[in-house]
Amino acid sequence: AASHNIVIIGGGAGGQAVAASILKRQPDQDIAIIEPQQAHYYQPGWTLVGGGVFSQAQTKRTMTSVMPKQVTWYQTAANKFEPERQQITLENGERLSYKALIVATGLKLDWEAIPGLNETLGKNGVTSNYRFDLAPYTWELVQSLKSGNAIFTQPPMPIKCAGAPQKAMYLSCDEWHRNGLLDNISVSFCTAGAALFGVQAYVPALQKYIDKYGIKLQLQNKLTAVDGPNQRATFAVTDAEGNTTTEVKPFDMLHVCPPQKAPEVIATSPIADEAGWVDVSPESLQHTQYHNIFALGDIANAPNAKTAAAVRKQAPVVAENVLSMLSGKPAIAVYDGYGSCPLTVERGKIVLAEFGYGGKLLPTFPTWLVNGTKPSRLSWLLKEKMLPWLYWDVMLKGKEWLAAPSHSVTKSKPASVEDACNF
Ligand code: FAD
Repeated sequence: AASHNIVIIGGGAGGQAVAASILKRQPDQDIAIIEPQQAHYYQPGWTLVGGGVFSQAQTKRTMTSVMPKQVTWYQTAANKFEPERQQITLENGERLSYKALIVATGLKLDWEAIPGLNETLGKNGVTSNYRFDLAPYTWELVQSLKSGNAIFTQPPMPIKCAGAPQKAMYLSCDEWHRNGLLDNISVSFCTAGAALFGVQAYVPALQKYIDKYGIKLQLQNKLTAVDGPNQRATFAVTDAEGNTTTEVKPFDMLHVCPPQKAPEVIATSPIADEAGWVDVSPESLQHTQYHNIFALGDIANAPNAKTAAAVRKQAPVVAENVLSMLSGKPAIAVYDGYGSCPLTVERGKIVLAEFGYGGKLLPTFPTWLVNGTKPSRLSWLLKEKMLPWLYWDVMLKGKEWLAAPSHSVTKSKPASVEDACNF
């Protein structure tokens, strides 16, 4: 088997960011990235594609352009993990051995879990900003809809960017509002969850927009089937007593956020927890059982918001801990659970949710500049102008602007999650 010091599975946000962070520390480090795709996507931009603000092209680059030159790229997928032998097997049957393994495969969008959905995506008014090719269709539908029912769905957690289903809805409503059409369009937010947003501090600001746009907030409404040709969506609706009934709702536009799960290859491997995610310590992002395996991004089972913003803080922590481990030292760099969700409540304004483990608010800016719990114009400028640059030119280049890891003082008593805020 070919061998590398560090093997990274996945060349998305997490894989590229951690490779860049490691190379910043040790430019000669021997790293391989396993990644089958030719293209790398800036997924946070898809909300703005669906809102008619960004072009599709602004969210896509070639994999080669984001892959550090020093890295050996295996353009294929990993399909078997043998942690006891420190080996993985690639799709073509080739084996690779490693001293350290970093898993960053992201998650799987489970379109197939909703009968009827796959075959109607991109037509019959059914769309999703969760796919590069469909985000422009969202904007097309928003512009063509003059009256009728618009339904926006959200599946059970965990999902990546938990705010994205709402962002699509608010930007659509804003456009209809500006064109004087909103009175003729009945908008529903059907979420499988029991609250509008997971962190209470942001709920009042979001509720104001629900009220302003006249959105019907339908909690514990889980999408279970779609009939595209007849434009009907089926929901499992749970009431306060816990009784579940089936409801069929007609739609003219349906924006679906699909259920999400760990990819099969991870879920069935020895490195997964019971739910299928890679089982890591939430602070060090080191595997709970195999000390030379780490995970970051959406595939890790750490209870942070699954976002690229989380990756920005996780990458330097994993980089430091992997290099410590390789030199026989303990993994003491600490991730505080930071994640961020810029909620586009209207074109030009954002509620900037930033929080860590346990829902602890972790604002980047002082409140006088940006109060994250209130809609802000500056936050919109941040999302539109700054964050793409922060992603491509800072995070993927290993420049750890505002993301330097903190460290627990001793290995035997790691800093508690609550103490680990690094701003
Ligand atoms: P990804 O970036 O998805 O990359 C995973 C990579 O692994 C892929 O390239 C894939 O091809 C590869 N891979 C998969 N399986 C294998 C395998 N077996 N072998 C080898 N390679 C494999 N985040 C924010 O911070 N802010 C936002 O506003 C925001 N908005 C979002 C809006 C939408 C609509 C979406 C879809 C996401 C949004 N996100 C946002 C979330 C963010 O994009 C993800 O959290 C982030 O990309 C996770 O990085 P990752 O590396 O874990 O996964």
